[in-house]
Amino acid sequence: MLDLSKYTKELIKHFSSSGNILLVCHINPDGDAIGAQLALYQYLKAQGKSVEMIAPNNLQDFLKWMDGADLINIYIRQRDKCKKLIADAGLIVMLDFNQTSRLGEAEELINSSSALKIIIDHHLEPADFNGLMISDPSKCSTSELVHELITLMNDGPFISKPYAEALYVGIITDTGNFEYGNYTSRTFRIVADLLETGIAKERILNLIYNNFSEERMRLMGFSLNERMVLIPEYQTAYIFLTRNDLAAFKYTKGDTEGFVNMPLSISRIIFSTLFIEKEGFIKISFRSKGKFPVNLFASEYFSGGGHLNASGGEYPDTLKNTVGYFKKILKENFKRFNQIG
Ligand code: 5GP
Ligand code: MN
Repeated sequence: MLDLSKYTKELIKHFSSSGNILLVCHINPDGDAIGAQLALYQYLKAQGKSVEMIAPNNLQDFLKWMDGADLINIYIRQRDKCKKLIADAGLIVMLDFNQTSRLGEAEELINSSSALKIIIDHHLEPADFNGLMISDPSKCSTSELVHELITLMNDGPFISKPYAEALYVGIITDTGNFEYGNYTSRTFRIVADLLETGIAKERILNLIYNNFSEERMRLMGFSLNERMVLIPEYQTAYIFLTRNDLAAFKYTKGDTEGFVNMPLSISRIIFSTLFIEKEGFIKISFRSKGKFPVNLFASEYFSGGGHLNASGGEYPDTLKNTVGYFKKILKENFKRFNQIG
């Protein structure tokens, strides 16, 4: 585990000496990316800092209700404003990713900015980075890491309801509502503190988990019934969805969230993959149980990365060819990956 206290002084110095702090999360932001971003925003605003936020692309509906979410500037929708925010920033803090390719269209401008840069993240295998990298893969979420850093800087817990709600969202979404096993006793102590601030946990749980459309539910049924394939000899299952499938169920962003986890509840299945046909490429999500390292599977063969048990990537080909390539890679490498664990 990383000794976070060694960053306290440096962080206090950077946050207090920088004008215009810019907080940036990754493309297709999840609950943890937005939770960590909004929590840090709340803290820095309470310190009287000038803070702005950018997300590379749109937030999913299940996160839009969050306090401060409407203040996040969406790069692909507000390019001119975002370019100016980047140009004016004295300090850029990047949250919940460790490769600048996850900045989408904003990558080039942020990379070439002369502002001081900090990454706060919990993914494995950070890429080389020209700035301060605070990377702790032992944390269940970037939100948990942000909270620990803020508690150190603040010399005690920072208490505010929007802050606690943001952290709670980050922690429950990145632990699959405490299902994935990436949490620790420390996570529960933090969550206990968050609940004591009086956050509306039932409301939050309903907004996140019980807020889907009928079409999404039916698409889930269709995916399991018609589009799930098992490869028992490699303890693997995959689901594939074509653009036509998605259109038939009136797909909106976020509808396939969580589908990739479902095959893992089949006994003996330890590796699950979801292929989604996009325009000109295939977006892929990987999940595993135990020690099968899907981050390596994604980074070695699908230009991606992530965590030991949850990763993603993409492949620039048709759905048919991508699935064919996947099966070939799986056959050639299953044993090797299974032995790494
Ligand atoms: P998801 O399958 O939910 O999109 O992503 C699971 C995990 O893999 C997330 O932690 C995310 O950061 C990582 N991930 C997903 N897609 C990519 C990708 O294209 N590149 C990299 N480096 N990581 C990804
Ligand atoms: Mn995360």
